[in-house]
Amino acid sequence: MKVVAKFGPESAGLIDKPDPVATGEFVVVKIHSVPMCTEYKDFKSERKNDGFGHEAAGEVVEVAQEGTVKVGDRVAVMPQYPCGKCHLCLAGEYIHCESNQNVQHVTGQTGVSATYAQYILKQDWMLLPIPDSVSYHHAGMACCGLGPTFNAMRLMNVNAFDTVLITGMGPVGLGGVINAVYRGARVIAVESHPYRAELAKKLGAAAVVNPQNADAVDQVRDLTDGRGADKGVECSADSPAVRLLIDAARRKGQVALVGASGEVKIHGWGDITSKGLTLHGAWHYNLADGPAMMQMIAQIPEQLDTFITHTFPMSQIQEAWALQCTNDCGKVALDAWA
Ligand SMILES: [Zn+2]
Ligand SMILES: [Zn+2]
Repeated sequence: MKVVAKFGPESAGLIDKPDPVATGEFVVVKIHSVPMCTEYKDFKSERKNDGFGHEAAGEVVEVAQEGTVKVGDRVAVMPQYPCGKCHLCLAGEYIHCESNQNVQHVTGQTGVSATYAQYILKQDWMLLPIPDSVSYHHAGMACCGLGPTFNAMRLMNVNAFDTVLITGMGPVGLGGVINAVYRGARVIAVESHPYRAELAKKLGAAAVVNPQNADAVDQVRDLTDGRGADKGVECSADSPAVRLLIDAARRKGQVALVGASGEVKIHGWGDITSKGLTLHGAWHYNLADGPAMMQMIAQIPEQLDTFITHTFPMSQIQEAWALQCTNDCGKVALDAWA
Protein backbone atom coordinates (compact mmCIF):
# COMPACT_ATOMS: atom_id res chain seq x y z
CA MET A 1 0.00 0.00 0.00
CA LYS A 2 0.97 3.65 -0.39
CA VAL A 3 1.71 5.58 2.81
CA VAL A 4 2.64 9.24 3.36
CA ALA A 5 6.23 9.83 4.47
CA LYS A 6 8.09 12.98 5.38
CA PHE A 7 11.71 12.96 4.23
CA GLY A 8 12.89 16.30 5.65
CA PRO A 9 11.86 19.97 5.94
CA GLU A 10 8.95 20.67 3.52
CA SER A 11 9.69 17.43 1.67
CA ALA A 12 7.07 14.67 1.66
CA GLY A 13 5.68 11.99 -0.63
CA LEU A 14 4.46 8.41 -0.77
CA ILE A 15 6.33 5.21 0.08
CA ASP A 16 5.33 1.52 -0.15
CA LYS A 17 4.58 -0.63 2.88
CA PRO A 18 3.08 -4.13 3.23
CA ASP A 19 -0.75 -4.25 3.39
CA PRO A 20 -2.15 -5.07 6.85
CA VAL A 21 -3.80 -8.45 7.50
CA ALA A 22 -6.93 -8.94 9.62
CA THR A 23 -6.35 -10.71 12.93
CA GLY A 24 -8.62 -11.29 15.94
CA GLU A 25 -10.82 -8.24 16.49
CA PHE A 26 -8.60 -6.17 14.15
CA VAL A 27 -10.14 -5.72 10.68
CA VAL A 28 -8.65 -4.15 7.55
CA VAL A 29 -10.25 -0.88 6.41
CA LYS A 30 -9.54 0.41 2.91
CA ILE A 31 -9.22 4.16 3.49
CA HIS A 32 -11.03 6.46 1.07
CA SER A 33 -10.96 9.79 2.89
CA VAL A 34 -8.14 11.06 5.11
CA PRO A 35 -9.19 14.19 7.06
CA MET A 36 -6.06 16.16 7.88
CA CYS A 37 -5.49 17.32 11.45
CA THR A 38 -2.46 18.94 13.12
CA GLU A 39 0.18 16.82 11.35
CA TYR A 40 1.16 19.84 9.19
CA LYS A 41 2.73 21.48 12.25
CA ASP A 42 5.70 19.18 11.65
CA PHE A 43 6.00 20.00 7.92
CA LYS A 44 8.89 22.45 8.27
CA SER A 45 10.84 20.47 10.90
CA GLU A 46 13.86 18.24 10.24
CA ARG A 47 12.01 15.18 11.54
CA LYS A 48 11.50 12.15 9.30
CA ASN A 49 8.28 10.20 9.85
CA ASP A 50 6.02 7.75 8.02
CA GLY A 51 3.26 7.25 10.59
CA PHE A 52 0.92 10.22 10.17
CA GLY A 53 -2.75 10.64 10.94
CA HIS A 54 -5.55 9.36 13.17
CA GLU A 55 -8.70 10.24 11.17
CA ALA A 56 -10.21 8.20 8.33
CA ALA A 57 -13.33 6.93 6.60
CA GLY A 58 -13.39 3.87 4.38
CA GLU A 59 -14.63 0.37 3.67
CA VAL A 60 -14.07 -2.88 5.56
CA VAL A 61 -12.23 -5.25 3.19
CA GLU A 62 -11.09 -8.10 5.47
CA VAL A 63 -12.20 -9.57 8.81
CA ALA A 64 -10.63 -12.48 10.71
CA GLN A 65 -13.60 -13.43 12.86
CA GLU A 66 -17.28 -12.67 13.28
CA GLY A 67 -17.70 -9.31 14.98
CA THR A 68 -19.45 -5.96 14.76
CA VAL A 69 -18.68 -5.32 11.04
CA LYS A 70 -18.53 -7.32 7.81
CA VAL A 71 -16.69 -6.99 4.51
CA GLY A 72 -18.22 -4.18 2.44
CA ASP A 73 -19.37 -2.08 5.41
CA ARG A 74 -18.68 1.66 5.05
CA VAL A 75 -17.23 3.03 8.29
CA ALA A 76 -15.70 6.03 10.02
CA VAL A 77 -12.52 5.10 11.90
CA MET A 78 -12.32 6.29 15.51
CA PRO A 79 -8.97 7.44 16.95
CA GLN A 80 -6.50 5.49 19.12
CA TYR A 81 -6.29 1.79 20.09
CA PRO A 82 -8.00 1.55 23.50
CA CYS A 83 -8.08 -1.69 25.50
CA GLY A 84 -11.84 -2.28 25.21
CA LYS A 85 -11.92 -3.86 28.67
CA CYS A 86 -11.44 -1.16 31.34
CA HIS A 87 -14.30 0.66 33.08
CA LEU A 88 -13.85 3.69 30.79
CA CYS A 89 -13.90 1.64 27.56
CA LEU A 90 -16.96 -0.29 28.74
CA ALA A 91 -18.71 3.04 29.40
CA GLY A 92 -17.94 4.22 25.85
CA GLU A 93 -15.32 6.68 27.12
CA TYR A 94 -12.51 4.83 25.35
CA ILE A 95 -10.78 8.11 24.46
CA HIS A 96 -9.75 8.35 28.14
CA CYS A 97 -8.53 4.70 28.30
CA GLU A 98 -5.32 4.39 30.29
CA SER A 99 -4.32 1.08 28.67
CA ASN A 100 -4.10 1.87 24.96
CA GLN A 101 -2.88 -1.16 23.00
CA ASN A 102 0.39 -1.32 21.15
CA VAL A 103 -0.80 -2.45 17.70
CA GLN A 104 2.58 -3.84 16.72
CA HIS A 105 2.76 -5.84 19.94
CA VAL A 106 -0.80 -7.19 19.65
CA THR A 107 -0.92 -7.94 15.90
CA GLY A 108 2.75 -8.52 15.06
CA GLN A 109 2.43 -6.03 12.17
CA THR A 110 4.21 -2.69 11.80
CA GLY A 111 3.13 0.49 10.03
CA VAL A 112 -0.57 -0.42 10.06
CA SER A 113 -1.97 2.20 12.46
CA ALA A 114 -1.52 5.46 10.50
CA THR A 115 -4.37 6.96 8.48
CA TYR A 116 -2.27 8.82 5.86
CA ALA A 117 -2.30 5.44 4.11
CA GLN A 118 -4.43 3.24 1.85
CA TYR A 119 -5.27 0.65 4.54
CA ILE A 120 -5.43 0.58 8.33
CA LEU A 121 -5.93 -2.09 10.99
CA LYS A 122 -8.57 -1.22 13.59
CA GLN A 123 -10.62 -3.02 16.23
CA ASP A 124 -14.09 -3.71 14.77
CA TRP A 125 -15.88 -1.96 17.67
CA MET A 126 -14.00 1.29 16.90
CA LEU A 127 -15.76 1.65 13.51
CA LEU A 128 -18.92 3.74 13.09
CA PRO A 129 -21.35 2.69 10.32
CA ILE A 130 -21.84 5.34 7.62
CA PRO A 131 -25.39 5.89 6.28
CA ASP A 132 -25.75 5.20 2.52
CA SER A 133 -26.51 8.84 1.75
CA VAL A 134 -23.26 10.12 3.33
CA SER A 135 -20.01 10.49 1.34
CA TYR A 136 -16.67 9.29 2.73
CA HIS A 137 -15.36 12.87 3.01
CA HIS A 138 -18.41 13.92 5.01
CA ALA A 139 -18.29 10.78 7.19
CA GLY A 140 -14.65 11.54 8.03
CA MET A 141 -15.86 14.66 9.83
CA ALA A 142 -17.03 12.29 12.61
CA CYS A 143 -13.37 12.30 13.72
CA CYS A 144 -11.71 15.56 14.89
CA GLY A 145 -13.64 17.80 12.47
CA LEU A 146 -16.86 17.58 14.43
CA GLY A 147 -16.04 15.09 17.22
CA PRO A 148 -14.45 16.97 20.13
CA THR A 149 -16.82 19.93 19.88
CA PHE A 150 -19.80 17.58 19.49
CA ASN A 151 -18.75 16.21 22.87
CA ALA A 152 -18.30 19.71 24.33
CA MET A 153 -21.83 20.72 23.23
CA ARG A 154 -23.24 17.49 24.72
CA LEU A 155 -21.45 17.99 28.04
CA MET A 156 -22.77 21.55 28.34
CA ASN A 157 -26.20 20.77 26.87
CA VAL A 158 -25.85 23.61 24.36
CA ASN A 159 -29.25 24.58 22.97
CA ALA A 160 -31.25 27.36 21.32
CA PHE A 161 -31.28 29.51 24.50
CA ASP A 162 -27.49 29.78 24.52
CA THR A 163 -24.88 32.16 23.22
CA VAL A 164 -21.72 30.10 22.75
CA LEU A 165 -18.28 31.68 22.56
CA ILE A 166 -15.77 29.59 20.57
CA THR A 167 -12.07 30.51 20.52
CA GLY A 168 -9.90 29.50 17.55
CA MET A 169 -11.40 29.01 14.09
CA GLY A 170 -9.08 26.26 12.93
CA PRO A 171 -10.78 23.08 11.72
CA VAL A 172 -11.77 22.08 15.27
CA GLY A 173 -13.28 25.48 16.13
CA LEU A 174 -15.06 25.73 12.78
CA GLY A 175 -16.53 22.30 13.54
CA GLY A 176 -17.65 23.81 16.85
CA VAL A 177 -19.55 26.52 14.97
CA ILE A 178 -21.32 23.81 12.93
CA ASN A 179 -22.23 21.86 16.08
CA ALA A 180 -23.51 24.90 17.98
CA VAL A 181 -25.51 26.20 15.01
CA TYR A 182 -27.01 22.72 14.50
CA ARG A 183 -28.27 22.87 18.08
CA GLY A 184 -29.85 26.26 17.50
CA ALA A 185 -27.39 28.27 19.59
CA ARG A 186 -26.04 31.71 18.74
CA VAL A 187 -22.29 31.66 18.13
CA ILE A 188 -19.66 34.31 18.79
CA ALA A 189 -16.40 33.20 17.20
CA VAL A 190 -12.98 34.42 18.33
CA GLU A 191 -10.42 34.61 15.51
CA SER A 192 -7.89 37.04 14.05
CA HIS A 193 -7.09 35.33 10.72
CA PRO A 194 -9.32 36.93 8.02
CA TYR A 195 -9.93 33.76 5.95
CA ARG A 196 -11.05 31.82 9.01
CA ALA A 197 -13.13 34.65 10.45
CA GLU A 198 -14.98 34.77 7.14
CA LEU A 199 -15.46 31.00 7.05
CA ALA A 200 -16.87 31.07 10.60
CA LYS A 201 -19.49 33.57 9.40
CA LYS A 202 -20.33 31.42 6.38
CA LEU A 203 -20.96 28.49 8.72
CA GLY A 204 -23.36 30.59 10.78
CA ALA A 205 -21.40 32.50 13.44
CA ALA A 206 -23.38 35.64 14.36
CA ALA A 207 -20.27 37.67 15.18
CA VAL A 208 -16.49 37.33 15.14
CA VAL A 209 -14.33 38.99 17.79
CA ASN A 210 -10.62 39.58 17.16
CA PRO A 211 -8.68 38.38 20.25
CA GLN A 212 -5.85 40.83 19.43
CA ASN A 213 -8.13 43.70 20.41
CA ALA A 214 -7.52 44.66 24.04
CA ASP A 215 -11.26 45.04 24.61
CA ALA A 216 -12.22 41.56 23.29
CA VAL A 217 -13.93 40.62 26.58
CA ASP A 218 -15.91 43.87 26.57
CA GLN A 219 -16.97 43.18 22.99
CA VAL A 220 -18.38 39.81 24.07
CA ARG A 221 -20.22 41.47 26.96
CA ASP A 222 -21.65 44.07 24.57
CA LEU A 223 -22.93 41.23 22.40
CA THR A 224 -24.58 39.50 25.39
CA ASP A 225 -26.47 42.31 27.14
CA GLY A 226 -23.54 42.84 29.48
CA ARG A 227 -23.83 39.36 31.03
CA GLY A 228 -21.20 37.34 29.19
CA ALA A 229 -21.50 34.16 27.13
CA ASP A 230 -23.59 31.29 28.48
CA LYS A 231 -21.12 28.69 27.31
CA GLY A 232 -17.60 28.68 25.88
CA VAL A 233 -15.42 26.23 23.96
CA GLU A 234 -11.63 26.53 23.67
CA CYS A 235 -10.34 25.29 20.29
CA SER A 236 -7.25 27.42 19.67
CA ALA A 237 -4.66 25.47 21.72
CA ASP A 238 -3.54 28.89 22.88
CA SER A 239 -3.61 29.25 26.68
CA PRO A 240 -4.54 32.98 26.79
CA ALA A 241 -7.79 31.94 25.09
CA VAL A 242 -8.76 30.04 28.24
CA ARG A 243 -8.41 33.26 30.23
CA LEU A 244 -10.57 35.08 27.67
CA LEU A 245 -13.26 32.39 27.89
CA ILE A 246 -13.36 32.49 31.69
CA ASP A 247 -13.46 36.31 31.75
CA ALA A 248 -16.12 36.47 29.04
CA ALA A 249 -18.34 33.72 30.52
CA ARG A 250 -21.43 34.77 32.44
CA ARG A 251 -21.97 33.91 36.10
CA LYS A 252 -23.08 30.24 36.36
CA GLY A 253 -21.70 29.73 32.86
CA GLN A 254 -19.78 26.74 31.49
CA VAL A 255 -16.51 26.41 29.62
CA ALA A 256 -15.21 23.32 27.82
CA LEU A 257 -11.53 22.94 27.02
CA VAL A 258 -10.96 21.09 23.74
CA GLY A 259 -7.74 22.51 22.38
CA ALA A 260 -6.15 24.00 25.51
CA SER A 261 -2.56 22.87 25.75
CA GLY A 262 -0.63 25.19 28.05
CA GLU A 263 -0.71 26.46 31.59
CA VAL A 264 -3.37 28.93 32.69
CA LYS A 265 -3.71 30.83 35.95
CA ILE A 266 -7.16 30.27 37.41
CA HIS A 267 -8.33 31.91 40.62
CA GLY A 268 -10.25 29.37 42.69
CA TRP A 269 -12.62 31.86 44.29
CA GLY A 270 -12.89 34.66 41.73
CA ASP A 271 -13.02 32.51 38.59
CA ILE A 272 -14.75 29.36 39.80
CA THR A 273 -16.50 29.43 43.18
CA SER A 274 -18.00 32.90 43.44
CA LYS A 275 -18.71 32.93 39.72
CA GLY A 276 -20.27 29.45 39.83
CA LEU A 277 -18.37 28.46 36.68
CA THR A 278 -18.24 24.85 35.47
CA LEU A 279 -15.13 23.70 33.59
CA HIS A 280 -15.21 20.61 31.35
CA GLY A 281 -12.43 18.64 29.72
CA ALA A 282 -13.86 17.67 26.33
CA TRP A 283 -12.01 15.28 24.02
CA HIS A 284 -13.59 12.79 21.64
CA TYR A 285 -17.26 11.82 22.18
CA ASN A 286 -18.68 8.77 23.87
CA LEU A 287 -19.02 5.77 21.53
CA ALA A 288 -22.76 5.68 22.25
CA ASP A 289 -23.07 9.09 20.56
CA GLY A 290 -21.86 7.70 17.22
CA PRO A 291 -25.35 7.27 15.69
CA ALA A 292 -26.33 10.83 16.70
CA MET A 293 -23.13 12.13 15.12
CA MET A 294 -23.88 10.30 11.84
CA GLN A 295 -27.47 11.54 11.93
CA MET A 296 -26.24 15.12 12.16
CA ILE A 297 -23.69 14.58 9.37
CA ALA A 298 -26.40 13.16 7.09
CA GLN A 299 -28.55 16.25 7.68
CA ILE A 300 -25.99 18.98 6.93
CA PRO A 301 -24.26 18.17 3.60
CA GLU A 302 -24.08 21.85 2.57
CA GLN A 303 -22.46 22.92 5.84
CA LEU A 304 -19.87 20.15 5.43
CA ASP A 305 -19.14 21.18 1.83
CA THR A 306 -18.43 24.69 3.15
CA PHE A 307 -16.34 23.28 6.01
CA ILE A 308 -14.15 21.04 3.78
CA THR A 309 -12.56 23.82 1.74
CA HIS A 310 -9.97 21.68 -0.04
CA THR A 311 -9.34 18.07 -1.05
CA PHE A 312 -6.08 16.74 -2.51
CA PRO A 313 -4.94 13.42 -3.93
CA MET A 314 -2.76 11.82 -1.25
CA SER A 315 0.13 11.96 -3.74
CA GLN A 316 -0.02 15.77 -3.41
CA ILE A 317 0.66 15.69 0.33
CA GLN A 318 3.31 18.39 0.01
CA GLU A 319 0.86 20.87 -1.54
CA ALA A 320 -1.77 19.98 1.07
CA TRP A 321 0.56 20.60 3.99
CA ALA A 322 1.91 23.80 2.44
CA LEU A 323 -1.68 25.08 2.18
CA GLN A 324 -2.43 24.17 5.81
CA CYS A 325 0.65 26.14 6.91
CA THR A 326 -0.95 29.31 5.48
CA ASN A 327 -4.18 28.89 7.53
CA ASP A 328 -6.10 29.87 4.37
CA CYS A 329 -8.28 26.77 4.61
CA GLY A 330 -10.95 25.05 6.66
CA LYS A 331 -10.86 21.29 6.98
CA VAL A 332 -8.66 19.62 4.35
CA ALA A 333 -9.02 15.99 3.28
CA LEU A 334 -6.93 13.61 1.16
CA ASP A 335 -8.13 11.03 -1.37
CA ALA A 336 -6.05 8.00 -0.42
CA TRP A 337 -6.31 6.37 -3.88
CA ALA A 338 -5.64 9.41 -6.10
ZN1 LIG B 1 -9.70 0.85 28.17
ZN1 LIG C 1 -7.46 14.85 14.57
